[in-house]
Amino acid sequence: MTKPASPTTNEEHKPSNFLRQIIENDLAKGTYANRRWAGSPGDAAHHATGEPDPAKIRTRFPPEPNGYLHVGHAKSICINFGLARDYGGVCHLRFDDTNPEKEDTEYVNSIIDAVQWLGFSWRQPGNDAPYQASDYFDFMYRAAEYLIEAGHAYVDEQTPEEMRIKRGDFGKPGVNSPFRSRTTDENLSRFREMRDGKLADGAAVLRAKIDMASPNINMRDPAIYRIRRATHHHTGDTWCIYPMYTFAHPIEDALEQITHSICTLEFEDQRPFYDWLMDRLCEGGLLAAPAPKQYEFARLNLTYVVTSKRKLAQLVSEGHVSGWDDPRMPTIVGLRRRGFTPESLQLFAERIGVTKSDSWIDYSTLEGCLREDLELKAHRAMAVLDPLKLVLTNWDEAFGSGHVEPCQLPALPHADTESEPVATRHFTLGKEVWIERDDFAEHPPKGYKRLSPPITQADGSVTLGSIVRLKAGYIVQCTGCMKDSNGHITEVHATVFTDTKSGGAGADSVKAKGVITWVGVADAVRAQVRLYDRLFKEEQPDAGGRDFLTAINPDSLKVIDAWVEPSLKLAQPDDKFQFERLGYFVADREDHRTSNLVFNRAVSLKDNWSK
Ligand code: ATP
Ligand code: MG
Repeated sequence: MTKPASPTTNEEHKPSNFLRQIIENDLAKGTYANRRWAGSPGDAAHHATGEPDPAKIRTRFPPEPNGYLHVGHAKSICINFGLARDYGGVCHLRFDDTNPEKEDTEYVNSIIDAVQWLGFSWRQPGNDAPYQASDYFDFMYRAAEYLIEAGHAYVDEQTPEEMRIKRGDFGKPGVNSPFRSRTTDENLSRFREMRDGKLADGAAVLRAKIDMASPNINMRDPAIYRIRRATHHHTGDTWCIYPMYTFAHPIEDALEQITHSICTLEFEDQRPFYDWLMDRLCEGGLLAAPAPKQYEFARLNLTYVVTSKRKLAQLVSEGHVSGWDDPRMPTIVGLRRRGFTPESLQLFAERIGVTKSDSWIDYSTLEGCLREDLELKAHRAMAVLDPLKLVLTNWDEAFGSGHVEPCQLPALPHADTESEPVATRHFTLGKEVWIERDDFAEHPPKGYKRLSPPITQADGSVTLGSIVRLKAGYIVQCTGCMKDSNGHITEVHATVFTDTKSGGAGADSVKAKGVITWVGVADAVRAQVRLYDRLFKEEQPDAGGRDFLTAINPDSLKVIDAWVEPSLKLAQPDDKFQFERLGYFVADREDHRTSNLVFNRAVSLKDNWSK
């Protein structure tokens, strides 16, 4: 017997949505209370031998293993696994691998990784491996023969063109195929010939016999099996006929005893066929009743990205990005390498909610979720991305030549130090430090709170150089700067106020205008920093049939050499940091080594794109 996952989060805090209401209603009415579960997928007879299903509901995430998952799939994963978790149910991971041509085990493995990384598990005692739809080919074939025997399906040998014309359109009913009135025996033997490879690819299809005049075109005798000589990545050459998706999918759900089959809105028109098929196979006793029901929600449309698998593949194959896991890609592997956390994506899925109408979600919503998650978690560090040397000209005189002053800061400034010990970062301040180039202004704008030199005004009076604190170190006063022959500033000079060490008795003896971040020339470490920005400069890169490649942002990646504080020598791949005043960064999971530091900017501290 299997045990359902226990709810791990408190559903009271989750905003309700129409899917939750449907599930709560079904639970209250006991719609699925009498189902049985035999421990593995199967037909009615199989499940009849099982125990009452310990899972209160069953949902599924059914990707086709034909590409890498993206942020839209993450939404679907969070919905399906989240609902199962919250309502004492189980969510199945099922590879919808009924289409033999496009699938690959590389994708299977990447999907497994993505689901696990997002924090979900399909594993139940006795059911370790994900399900795969190709395991159900035998049953699907049996179901097709049953439909033929019951007079609900026929083999049609019209040309695809004839079938298309006779299907009619929205205003015009379809016309019955001349093959529609074949006898059961004729249909059965012809279908078996299809299976046995006696007919050429495309020479015939098996169609459900429903209603050629239905206002829903999907009900006008849809094809349910086709001939396709293709080697399948699991079943090899066992089959030369394959079920159509619309036939296969409801059966997969039913064999797995899914209660709530949640999909995106484009399948709404397929729901009548889903129900028709379930009714036929339940009345024939092949499937256990009650059958699953399909519910549709709006897919995620996110601004500044494309999510079509074809377009993502094009970005990779044409070299616009470095691969599927390029940190600018909206794939789950890309988001992960960019520094997104599972928690930030879960938060995003929750925040955008589940609706029945299409809308666009702004990319900044996704970034906001990452900031929110990292704010309390990411260790702080100081880094200088555009370095300019600051020389403290009275240092030797004040402290002795070669003196370096040990300084420290907590890794997490807001942590509750009573309940958890907090790491401390150690670094040193000496005669020379690196500061950001824009933390010095020769001609400061009004209100500038960083370093600026003494200035002789028009009336002859002198404004003194500005006074700022070097964070966690001393207060300094700017005295001037040095330039090269081109007028480019090469060095800033300042004097230090002894006794003003941060946290010391004299810390407040001099009033500083502001605080700037810095790293010591003596102990700073070199790091490569990759400054990522949005890959597209248009909100909807592929809107209105535009070639999405013309919307590529040419400045989506800048690679720079930065100086970072010495504590970052301990950073491991995937570790996330807030570089103070600069943004959130992650040690690159591919290229970062403790001997060769590489950090990706995950997100800036503030939204720079909002209008
Ligand atoms: P394809 O175009 O190849 O069918 P797909 O994006 O539909 O691609 P699937 O592997 O069929 O990919 O998707 C698996 C699941 O993810 C489906 O249940 C689908 O509804 C859901 N899904 C896909 N894209 C989105 C999206 N943008 N928003 C929400 N759910 C999505
Ligand atoms: Mg699909």
